[in-house]
Amino acid sequence: MPSRKDNPDWMEKTKKRVRTAFEKWVAVLGLRSWDFIFSWDPGHGEAASADYHCEFAIDTLWEYKKATITIWCASVRDLDDTALEKAVLHELLHCTVCEMRDWRPGKTHRKHEERVVVQLCDAFWDTRRAGYDVGFNKGQRAARPKKRRAAK
Ligand SMILES: [Zn+2]
Repeated sequence: MPSRKDNPDWMEKTKKRVRTAFEKWVAVLGLRSWDFIFSWDPGHGEAASADYHCEFAIDTLWEYKKATITIWCASVRDLDDTALEKAVLHELLHCTVCEMRDWRPGKTHRKHEERVVVQLCDAFWDTRRAGYDVGFNKGQRAARPKKRRAAK
């Protein structure tokens, strides 16, 4: 089976997958009033470790609810759908907490923001998963046990 790398349309397919995931999570997180600009880069993101490159970076003007998101398509390309969605969710959660960056100068507060975003991402992911498990997807309500009428 050919990998996504061998597909000549990989860039367009990657963009479509990313846009689909963003649309979903922008709605879920209530970020529709934000303006997002996508900056598509065909290469890999910064190497965070020997075997991991960043897939996204976000710059915000949080006070105006504007964000520019850089997408390193080569890093995104081979993510499976779950990993891609979680990466998108993570990036969007930065919009909800990014104003903490301006509390004080220095670099250490970025790690605090990152930690908060990682925890929120896990919480949203698990909560959404739990919602699906009880039937809250696609507008369905969870099945509730029917109340029994008292016998007369
Ligand atoms: Zn992050």
